[in-house]
Amino acid sequence: MFSKILIANRGEIALRILRACRELGIKTVAVHSTADEDAMHVRLADEAVCIGPAASRDSYLNVAAILAAATITGAEAIHPGYGFLSENADFAETVEAHGLTFIGPTADHIRMMGDKITAKTTMEALGVPLVPGSDGELKSLEEARAVAEKVGYPVLIKATAGGGGRGMKVAQSASELEEAWSVARTEARTAFGNDAVYLEKYLDKPRHIELQILADNHGNVVHFGERDCSLQRRHQKLLEEAGSPVLSAEQRDAIGRTATDALAKMGYRNAGTLEFLYQDGQFCFIEMNTRLQVEHPVTEMVCDVDLVREQIRIAAGEELGYTQPDISFSGHAIECRINAEDPDTFAPCPGTVAVYHPPGGLGVRVDSALYTGYRVPPYYDSMIAKVIVHAPTRAQAIARMHRALDEFVVEGIKTVIPLHRRILADPEFQKGEYTIHWLEQFTSRPH
Ligand code: ADP
Repeated sequence: MFSKILIANRGEIALRILRACRELGIKTVAVHSTADEDAMHVRLADEAVCIGPAASRDSYLNVAAILAAATITGAEAIHPGYGFLSENADFAETVEAHGLTFIGPTADHIRMMGDKITAKTTMEALGVPLVPGSDGELKSLEEARAVAEKVGYPVLIKATAGGGGRGMKVAQSASELEEAWSVARTEARTAFGNDAVYLEKYLDKPRHIELQILADNHGNVVHFGERDCSLQRRHQKLLEEAGSPVLSAEQRDAIGRTATDALAKMGYRNAGTLEFLYQDGQFCFIEMNTRLQVEHPVTEMVCDVDLVREQIRIAAGEELGYTQPDISFSGHAIECRINAEDPDTFAPCPGTVAVYHPPGGLGVRVDSALYTGYRVPPYYDSMIAKVIVHAPTRAQAIARMHRALDEFVVEGIKTVIPLHRRILADPEFQKGEYTIHWLEQFTSRPH
């Protein structure tokens, strides 16, 4: 096992990793920008190194500074968290080239899944069902037209290098295709430096259901069931549940087997998530995330597993020590992402947290790096906390989340807590009747 790990991240996820390290008896090194000197992950870590100015590209994305920090402090492994360098294959490769362990999959697998066209062709060859669409990259607008006619409108033009919901454009009909094609390509070129695009049928009422996988370096692969992440705004998740309100245990077993078989054949290792759109009883793979996900806690609650601890054990070469029949699912978990944003306009609201009082009690978990007096910097992601509840049934979990959010005090900045309360009180949400398009409609309703 490692004796010291450097955490190449900030905020709640840096704390999450730090906590797992503590419980494993591993020393931690925090890295931080000049804007994060007073951050909680810096205060709680055994050592902290400033790696640059506020802008992410100069600090949390500064590979040379992070590697220097690891070398100076004698860290043996680096956990990248999510976002920042977590899906950067070159970073993973450089870490390993310096004799350190990257806590995650191999650079080759990160690269393979980071390119969505390669990810889809790889998964298809391994027997995973896909959304109908183009066979790889579209070479011309004419080809896009032909594929769109074949699969039927509406269609979605997507960037192979896309992420964070960017580089995606819908064409409702043939007359919109040319514009979608050129807008998606321009956006992809500007945002990702790669204008390769592909086409998918735009599904009208899918749910976003994803599967959590863990694989060790000895060929053992297991899944921890699904998360339903259909509540999204601008393709960004806001509220997640485990399990999905629409999936039966048999369906979970079946897709779980398909996914674990595929990843075993690939020789995948560490944590990974296969994302699917689910409509009319069919799963269609859209992409794979080769890292820990923001919403991992809902899985931890229903499966009673510490996924970060498992990631670290796997990276240290340990065997999982359990197999699929050992994994059981208990009750229901919900996560609300609390963003420092105006709940109506979604404008970011950084600033000083005048009062902070998190909820507690049975079945409530809060993952956050906030404290009273903390200044939420304007430079990074607006997510400031995750509230996770666990209860025997979905209805009880909804009641518990309501109760928890009622207790949650965050003063001085605006947050999306009022929006979450409205969602939880909505009869359609309570019945579990929602698709990926539901939240956009819900937020545009007068209230
Ligand atoms: P990103 O990597 O940018 O998050 P994804 O491919 O994971 O992109 O898609 C993000 C979200 O966009 C999905 O969760 C879903 O809501 C929507 N989406 C993606 N592909 C389709 C599709 N073919 N039809 C309908 N919605 C889609």
